[in-house]
Amino acid sequence: MKVIDHINQAKDKTIVSFEVLPPLKGKGIEALYRHLDPLMEFKPAFINVTYHRSEHVFKKRADGSFEKVVIRKRPGTESICAAIMNKYNVDTVPHLICGGFGINETEDALINLRYLGIDNVLVLRGDAAKNETAFEPEPGGHKYAIDLLKQVVNLNAGIYLEEDLKSTHKTEFCIGVAGYPEKHFEAPNMDTDLRYLKAKVDAGADYIVTQMFFDNAKYYAFVKACRAIGINVPIIPGLKPVYTKKQMNVLPKTFHIDLPTDLSNEMLKCKTDEEVEQVGTEWLLHQSKDLKKNGVPVLHYYTLGKPHVVANVVKEL
Ligand code: FAD
Repeated sequence: MKVIDHINQAKDKTIVSFEVLPPLKGKGIEALYRHLDPLMEFKPAFINVTYHRSEHVFKKRADGSFEKVVIRKRPGTESICAAIMNKYNVDTVPHLICGGFGINETEDALINLRYLGIDNVLVLRGDAAKNETAFEPEPGGHKYAIDLLKQVVNLNAGIYLEEDLKSTHKTEFCIGVAGYPEKHFEAPNMDTDLRYLKAKVDAGADYIVTQMFFDNAKYYAFVKACRAIGINVPIIPGLKPVYTKKQMNVLPKTFHIDLPTDLSNEMLKCKTDEEVEQVGTEWLLHQSKDLKKNGVPVLHYYTLGKPHVVANVVKEL
């Protein structure tokens, strides 16, 4: 079932969804199941699975020289979505990125997703590869998320890359896109970023999922600014718990977001990461209750690594 249908069916009720990472290459899927098991009692409407592009690394040879090799640390997004669907009978949303993909590979990936019975995709550009300073599309690949989105919209209309295909199957993907309450870090300003977000919605995105934020006021201001320029699709807040002191610097650096002073002050007072986790749980619960009270359609939790923290919060809701 499509994400948008889950939202419409829930009417004014707030539903929950979770996001997980594929296992590291070399690990089995069992650890992911152990991660998800305690979360399934909350009957998530859907589960997102992130996509991780391949990286170039330099491996030292026996003679001291270096060899450039391509590695992919977390493969398998599409098949993991299918496995989760089979095991838990829940809808899944694979993330699909432009980075590292040519348009033919993207089309094949989308065809595979349909064969697997997956109705949803979250389309993203992806970040620059580790060895690049700025995002570089594959030769002939997509430069922005909107270009990838248009390819999915075309497939939904039965338009494939091979123009002479006859009587083609129309896919029916529900399409999500990313939005940034604190602005995407490359955008010159919020207005420009919002204009590009509106272009994604006008091109066919069904809903928006936000980057994580820790200050609900920023989410409400973002929704208001979106509505003011005619973005009328559901805007799903992305939520993440803090649970280590290190995150005080890692989260702003990695995701280009701020931690509110009240939160960072509380984290600074903590002597151990267990205490930080307690602070993070309370903060997330407070955020979640407030968002629910204000009628958000979905609370989307980045569960990465800490399912019990998210479980404790959702239990309290
Ligand atoms: P875009 O919408 O293409 O925007 C990128 C930048 O370009 C923005 O600054 C925008 O303002 C600008 N822009 C957009 N269109 C144009 C245009 N036509 N001309 C000029 N400028 C333009 N990354 C992963 O690798 N894997 C994941 O699984 C993943 N999941 C994510 C989930 C969520 C909810 C979010 C918020 C992010 C996720 N990311 C993921 C990170 C994401 O790929 C990066 O934030 C990336 O830098 C931007 O992706 P985007 O889809 O927002 O790009």
